[in-house]
Amino acid sequence: MKYGILADIHGNLEALQAVLPLLEHCDEILCAGDVVGYGPNPNECCALLRERNCATIEGNHDLASIGAYDLRWFNDHARAAIEWTAKQLTPENAAFLEANPQRLERETFSMAHGSLVSPVEQYLGSVWDVQSTFEAMEKDLCFVGHTHVAAVFSRGLFNRLGEREVFPAGGTVKLRRNRKYVINCGSLGQPRDRNPAGSFGLYDSDAGVVEILRVHYDVASTQQKMAAVGLPKLLITRLAHGT
Ligand code: ZN
Repeated sequence: MKYGILADIHGNLEALQAVLPLLEHCDEILCAGDVVGYGPNPNECCALLRERNCATIEGNHDLASIGAYDLRWFNDHARAAIEWTAKQLTPENAAFLEANPQRLERETFSMAHGSLVSPVEQYLGSVWDVQSTFEAMEKDLCFVGHTHVAAVFSRGLFNRLGEREVFPAGGTVKLRRNRKYVINCGSLGQPRDRNPAGSFGLYDSDAGVVEILRVHYDVASTQQKMAAVGLPKLLITRLAHGT
C-alpha cells in the first residue's frame, strides 16, 4: 500500500492544492490533525479532505475551533485565529471535524496528532518525550503531527532512548526490522523548521520506506488572504520564513 501522510494543514488551501496532485498514486491519504486554525481557508480545506476521502484525526486546533477544547491553552495569536475560524466553519465542516477520531489504525501503523499516550496534547520534541509512545506502540510505526517539525524518532531493541533525526529539507527513511519508528512528516500549512515549503510524507508499506518531502506553494497568496480577513500579522509573516 502507498499512503500519503499529511498533518497540520491549518487552513492553508494553496499548500493543500499544491500537494494533492503529488498524492494521486496513493491508495490512501491520511491527515494527522489540525486541518484548521491559523490559515484563511478552513472550510475549503475541510471540503477538499472530505472530497478526497482523506482519513483525518482531530488536532487541538480542530477541537478548539468547534468549542471542544479550552482556548486558554493557546497563545494570543493562535487564539485569535481559532476564534476567527470558529465563526467561519459551516455546520457540515464543523460536524466533519467533530466526527474525526483521536487515533487511526492501519495494518502496519498507528496515527495520532500529538502522541499515542496523549493524542491531542503532547508534543514529541525530544527522545525523552517519545519514550512513552514507544512503550505504548503495538506496531513498529506511528505517525504524528503537532510540532510542525519533520523528525524521525527510532529505537532499536538494545538502545535505551533511541535517536532523533530532523528533516528540514526532506529525506528518505528505510524502515529496519526490530526497530520502532515515530515519524512526524512535518506541517503542510505552517512548517516551523526554517523551510517555508510545505512538508508531507509518502509511505510505501511494501517497500518499508517513508519519504519526507517538501512542496513549494504560493505563500504570498495565502498571506494576502490572511491579511484581507484580518488574521494576526505574526501568523502572516512566519509563513515566509517557515518559523
Ligand atoms: Zn498544528
